[in-house]
Amino acid sequence: MDPLAFTRLNHGRIQAVESSFRMSGKPLATPGRVLFGEGQLLKRSRRRCQPKVFFLFSDVLVYGSIIVAGRWYKNQKTISLADIQLEDLEDSIWMENQWLIRTPRKSFYVAAGCPEEKQAWMEHIVACRDRWLQTAAACQNGPAFTPFTFAATWIPDGASAMCMRCCNKFTAMLRRHHCRNCGFLVCAACSKQRAVLRHIHPIDLQRVCRLCSGRLLQEQQQEEEHLYVDVAAVLGEGEQEEEGKGMTLRNFHGWLNSQTQPRSHFMYLKPEQLPPRKTKLPPQDILLS
Ligand SMILES: [Zn+2]
Ligand SMILES: [Zn+2]
Repeated sequence: MDPLAFTRLNHGRIQAVESSFRMSGKPLATPGRVLFGEGQLLKRSRRRCQPKVFFLFSDVLVYGSIIVAGRWYKNQKTISLADIQLEDLEDSIWMENQWLIRTPRKSFYVAAGCPEEKQAWMEHIVACRDRWLQTAAACQNGPAFTPFTFAATWIPDGASAMCMRCCNKFTAMLRRHHCRNCGFLVCAACSKQRAVLRHIHPIDLQRVCRLCSGRLLQEQQQEEEHLYVDVAAVLGEGEQEEEGKGMTLRNFHGWLNSQTQPRSHFMYLKPEQLPPRKTKLPPQDILLS
């Protein structure tokens, strides 16, 4: 699968997650975010154990209560991966295959359906977090083009008599517009493109000039390819020799497929976008705590 097709597929998956929370969830699509996996885990709170749905993204872990498995969730919670520490735990009489998720604000116990699931979840969360921290650190060292992180100051209408991109004179017919990214005064022809600008709105498209559009697009694609292939390499260690030239997108998918076969509660996304299967609830004695 080529990276552009992956970008579209990924976008579709994230939208499906968004809509499964119906009106109660926050928008989840942001530039560069990749959905890596989803599944059910048992979450223990002070009073009881409950199955919850978990979504592992490249930068956050999202979870929610299940109303109808695979279709309808509520009580969406989002934790930044940067804040997460995991602590492995032995089985207790209440929960098998459990571990602790620590964040600065709260900590809670979760459990998977079997030891392999538990191991896979823990490894993937840690791999995504480390990758995310690395990317965040690299970005602070100044990438070639940084999208504006605060709303750009708009150049006042009277400040330029001509389009600041193509230099055509503004007239009654050639109207002024503002690029939402750089704030420059531009004509309609030079600002046909639209892009998501995270600092303005998480998903709405904004008018951008052709210069900003090209840069933002390039930036976003680089970010997504980079994340995808690199995380693939991190997650797929041990399969790298297969084709003699490192982890390719294809053997990463093969690896993902192999991960989904024997699973019950845990499911890593297949490239064909299978909807999450309905999973069996854990045995009743685990639910009683
Ligand atoms: Zn122009
Ligand atoms: Zn611009």
